[in-house]
Amino acid sequence: MQGIIFHIDMNSYFATVEQQANPHLRGRPVGVCEHLGGIIIAASVEAKMLGIGTGTPVWEARKIYPKIVLLKVDPPKVRFITERFLKIFSDYTDLVERYSIDEAFLDFGIKTKILKDTCHPGLDPGSTRARKDPDCNQDDSTIWSDAILVALEIKQRIRREIGEWLTCSVGIGPNKLIAKIASNLQKPDGLTVVRPQDIEELYDKLSLTDIPGINVRMQARLSAHGIYTVKDLSRYPESKLRAEFGLVGHYLKQLGNFKSTRGIVLPGDEPVKSMGHAFTMSRASSDVREIEALIFKLSEKVARRLRQRNMWGSVVSCYVRFAKEKVPFSQRREPSQNFGRSHRIKDFINDGRLISREAIKIFNSSGIKAPVRMIGISVSGLVENFLDEPLFRRYKKSQWALDAMDKVNDKYGEFTLRRAALLDAKHLAGDTVGFGRLAR
Ligand SMILES: [Mg+2]
Repeated sequence: MQGIIFHIDMNSYFATVEQQANPHLRGRPVGVCEHLGGIIIAASVEAKMLGIGTGTPVWEARKIYPKIVLLKVDPPKVRFITERFLKIFSDYTDLVERYSIDEAFLDFGIKTKILKDTCHPGLDPGSTRARKDPDCNQDDSTIWSDAILVALEIKQRIRREIGEWLTCSVGIGPNKLIAKIASNLQKPDGLTVVRPQDIEELYDKLSLTDIPGINVRMQARLSAHGIYTVKDLSRYPESKLRAEFGLVGHYLKQLGNFKSTRGIVLPGDEPVKSMGHAFTMSRASSDVREIEALIFKLSEKVARRLRQRNMWGSVVSCYVRFAKEKVPFSQRREPSQNFGRSHRIKDFINDGRLISREAIKIFNSSGIKAPVRMIGISVSGLVENFLDEPLFRRYKKSQWALDAMDKVNDKYGEFTLRRAALLDAKHLAGDTVGFGRLAR
C-alpha cells in the first residue's frame, strides 16, 4: 500500500499576509515587492485578476492599475506566519518538510494515524474512529476520505487560529510529486485528491510544463524528440532518454510516470550544497563602483552564512541579469539577457573578500555592456569543519579577524563592522525572503 502525502501551498502568500494584517487592503489589488523599482514578488488574488502576477515589473503593474497598493516585503511578518502554520501541521504528523516560505509537505505514512485525538466542530464526527484507534483496519477509501477531513480541518484551523484571510491549496497524493501537482490544480483555497487509481486521469489534464522539474527550455528539448505530452514522455523508452539527457533522462522517465521516491526532508537532514544571495537593483546600473560594491556585499553575506555553519567552499558562481529596453512584460518574446558562470578555485574559502574577487572576475568575463539589473552570488563545493581550529593553517590570522568581526556583528547587527569597500553600500541588498527553498 502506498502512503499519503499532503502538499500545502499558501495562496498569494506575501500579499495575503499583508491583507490579513491590514483589513483595509482586503479586496484590493496589492503587490508586494522587494523595492519599488523591482518586480512584483507576490500579487493578491485581486491583482492577479487584473493580470498582475509574480514577475510583473512594478512600473508595468502601475500602468495596468495605477491605484495598486504596493508594499515592501516584510520578512519578519511573513516568517512569523510561516512558523505558525508549520506549528499547526506538526499537530498532525512529525514528518513535516518546510519546502519553502509558503509551502510544506506532510507525510502521513501508510496508516491513517493522521489525526491527533482532536475533534473540531463542523467536521464529520465519524472520522474520530480512525483517530482514536490508529490500528483499526480501514479500507482504502476510508483512508482517503479521512485524509480529506484532515485537510479541511487544517484549512479551518489556519483561518481560525492564524487569520481568516489566509487560504491554502492542498494537494493529496501517494507521493510528493503527485501531491505537488495536485495542489497546483485548484487555486485559491483548493483541495485536490489524486488517489493511485486517479493517476491515469492526470495525463489528460496536464501539459509537460505542469510537471515540477520540466521548464519551458526542457519542454523545447523534449519536443525536439517528438515528446509533446506527458503521455508521450511516459511511453518514451528510458534508454533513449538516458542517451540524450544522461542521468536526467532517468528522472524525466520517472516524472512521466508520476513516480517519485523522494522522501520527506526534515530540518537539518538536508546536506547544504550551496549558499547564495541575490539582489535586484531598484534601477539598472552601469556604475562599476556600485556593481562591485553590490558583489562585495552579497559575497560578504554568503561568507557570513558559511562561517555561521563552519563551512568552506571551492566553487564561486556569479549570475547577472542585464536590463533590456522597456517592453511590456506580457509582450516580451525573449527573456532579458542573462549571464552566469562558475569558477572552481584551488582552495576552500569562506572570506567575503576572496569570494567577491572571484565573482568580479566572472562578472568582467561576461563582456556584456548593458546596465545590470540583478546579481546573484553563490558558493558551492562545500566542506564542513568540525574542529574549533581553522581548517587551513594559512588562514589562521585572517580567520581570527573574521571571527572578531562576526562577534561584533552577532551582538550589534549585520554589517555593523564591515570592510571599507562596503562603507557606502548599506542600502544594497537588505534582509528579504524569497520563494526559493528555505535557507537553513
Ligand atoms: Mg504559494
